[in-house]
Amino acid sequence: MARVKHTRDAAGVDSVPWRDVALATKGFMPAAEGDALHAAALAAATRVPGAPFVEIGTYCGRSTVWLGAAAWLSDAVLFTVDHHRGSEELQVGWEHHDAEVVDGRSGRMDSLPFARTALELAGLENSVVLVVGGSVELAHVWDRAAAMVFIDGGHGVDVAGADFEAWAGHVARGGTLAIHDVFADPTEGGQAPYEQIYLPAVRSGRFVEESVCGSLRLLRRL
Ligand code: SAH
Ligand code: MG
Repeated sequence: MARVKHTRDAAGVDSVPWRDVALATKGFMPAAEGDALHAAALAAATRVPGAPFVEIGTYCGRSTVWLGAAAWLSDAVLFTVDHHRGSEELQVGWEHHDAEVVDGRSGRMDSLPFARTALELAGLENSVVLVVGGSVELAHVWDRAAAMVFIDGGHGVDVAGADFEAWAGHVARGGTLAIHDVFADPTEGGQAPYEQIYLPAVRSGRFVEESVCGSLRLLRRL
């Protein structure tokens, strides 16, 4: 793990080490997988210097801090996209719903304030661009090869498939496609990231698996 300096942003945010901020942020990224994601992003940046990182599915900024710190250390920029209204499985009545992540005015989910706070506390506002909107809409105007594309958005069959279609082509040669919540065994979790993203990526012949950490799969673009 790289050493942290405490002068990351002009805001002069004082000195909470970024990894501690990640661990204290709401979300769904286990520490070991966050560390693996961070290391993979650092490695991708050395192979594709200067290229941006993209994250689909910011939520409250937990995984964003691991990736954003890698961007900061690489002199790269992370673009993280989310409409911040929550996936189906995050809505009221679903297993992963968190009542704190609801806007009191509208009664709708709004994870954006949490993400902004996480980036501020981690001192990463200069290294991360929060994009508020749909992932496919962003993909359609995106015209740059990315060193790392991390897909952790909606886990419905159609949404996951759309993210694969929209984003896989934006990974630079030598770059990394990272996919979260990949479960080959249906008894361990939902199948959409596995069937709609992981398998099509490998079967396309354009990606080769480099490593696995928990449900995180890291594929290298050939
Ligand atoms: N990466 C986060 C968790 C992301 S949860 C972490 O590690 O903690 C998935 C997120 O994807 C939700 O916040 C949801 O709002 C977002 N999402 C789902 N479908 C989306 C879409 N089509 N466009 C943009 N964001 C989407
Ligand atoms: Mg996830």
